[in-house]
Amino acid sequence: MSATNAYSFFQSVERSFDKAAKFTKWDLGILEQIKACNSVYQMRFPVKRDNGNIEVIEAYRVQHSHHKAPCKGGIRFSNEVNQDEVMALASLMTYKCAIVNVPFGGAKGGIKINPRNYSLYELEKITRRYTSELVKKNFIGPGTDVPAPDYGTGEKEMAWIVDTYASLKPGEIDAAGCVTGKPVTQGGVRGRKEATGLGVFYGIREVCNMEVVMKRQGLATGIEGKTVVVQGLGNVGYHSAKFFREHGAILIGLAEYEGAIFKADGLNEEEVFQHRKATGSILNFPGATNLAKNTDALEMECDILIPAALENVINGENAPRVKAKIIGEAANGPCTPEADEIFVKKGILCVPDMYLNAGGVTVSYFEWLKNLSHVRYGRMEKRFTENLNTHILGQIEELSGKKVSEMEKEFIMHGPDEVDLVHSGLEETMIAATREIMDIWLSNPGIPDMRTAAYVSAINKVANSYVELGIFP
Ligand code: NAD
Repeated sequence: MSATNAYSFFQSVERSFDKAAKFTKWDLGILEQIKACNSVYQMRFPVKRDNGNIEVIEAYRVQHSHHKAPCKGGIRFSNEVNQDEVMALASLMTYKCAIVNVPFGGAKGGIKINPRNYSLYELEKITRRYTSELVKKNFIGPGTDVPAPDYGTGEKEMAWIVDTYASLKPGEIDAAGCVTGKPVTQGGVRGRKEATGLGVFYGIREVCNMEVVMKRQGLATGIEGKTVVVQGLGNVGYHSAKFFREHGAILIGLAEYEGAIFKADGLNEEEVFQHRKATGSILNFPGATNLAKNTDALEMECDILIPAALENVINGENAPRVKAKIIGEAANGPCTPEADEIFVKKGILCVPDMYLNAGGVTVSYFEWLKNLSHVRYGRMEKRFTENLNTHILGQIEELSGKKVSEMEKEFIMHGPDEVDLVHSGLEETMIAATREIMDIWLSNPGIPDMRTAAYVSAINKVANSYVELGIFP
């Protein structure tokens, strides 16, 4: 808990849950069961550093809900990791999966380290040891609990995890499904890396296409020409920025932990990324203005603000100074309940994390299904679709006597590749979830904000699955 927040992260999640529970019909017992973290595993293990010193590492895995199997949730490497944070993130995963109809219970893992302070070899040792600790307690496996990348982790950590798991479970045919976010060569799925950022884009685009909502925000419909500020140029922030810019939005601000930059006519995230790689900082980017503090980016005048770094960055202290018209919570828990109340008063639309950043888990679900089916998406139908389309097009050309241009022909005949199917599945998921939440919100005038509507959707779905399981009458 910090001076700017009256609640811990987990308490914030519980508070948002309670606020929404009032708009559901479920009794207290069911609500308490949905809210509780089912299993919390806290561990300590030693690692020998490159300099010969032994360091004791603190780590966690929390399974919030067993109403569906397996549990699912990322692994975070950060100095800020603690039990409360992992419990909060695991709970959000349960609600997130329910909202986007991904049949998993929520989980989360965390290792309390700053990965920047460790060599590649040390990180590999820590990741492999963490995995074997999870195996020992049956906290990982394609049918029990399936981790994924989160803050501070990526493909390489997931590759170490699957390799460790497979070597400890020889002959387990579905071992590749023990973790998602793997490199494609290790059983990953094409489209996973950009999935969360792309999902953020699809979700906000759907909101921006809703005339009634845009009217309320005093904005025109569509993405084109909207000004966007992104905090965090990691996996989620980079890809969110990329898709907004590619679809005509103007990326006027970017923030990283070392500072923030502003450019009225638009930044290019890849150029800033390369500049940071070369100089070690996003600051002093050619043509851009440096801001005094990195948090100044959150207070910039813009249409859409995308916090894509860590939790609690917009709180009771700075929320009154936020000038964005829409906040898209790409990170988990970037806005506190105090901030939510201020947004309602100021008319700022906050599109909540628990569904907006569900692109990662949605595509993780596709990856897990691919691992269990042992076949690449599109392998069976690509050639068939291309042959069929060629035939149909030939018939149309013959009957109409008109020829289609080579470029159009290529587009029409194209059979789906894995990445096409993954992106299309993600787009459908994000559009459907946005509409479902908006319907709940707009058809119930008592519900104060979109987050509460999202929780109502999640609570109803999790409670219903308990009822289906026969656990509650
Ligand atoms: P990442 O480690 O790839 O990137 C995070 C970036 O934020 C880093 O570049 C870091 O330097 C920057 N950052 C840290 N503190 C900052 C500050 N105070 N101001 C500005 N920038 C700061 O992590 P990620 O995977 O992109 O995750 C970011 C957020 O999105 C987390 O909250 C995570 O839980 C959430 N999320 C990630 C995924 C996923 O698929 N990776 C899925 C769902 C949610």
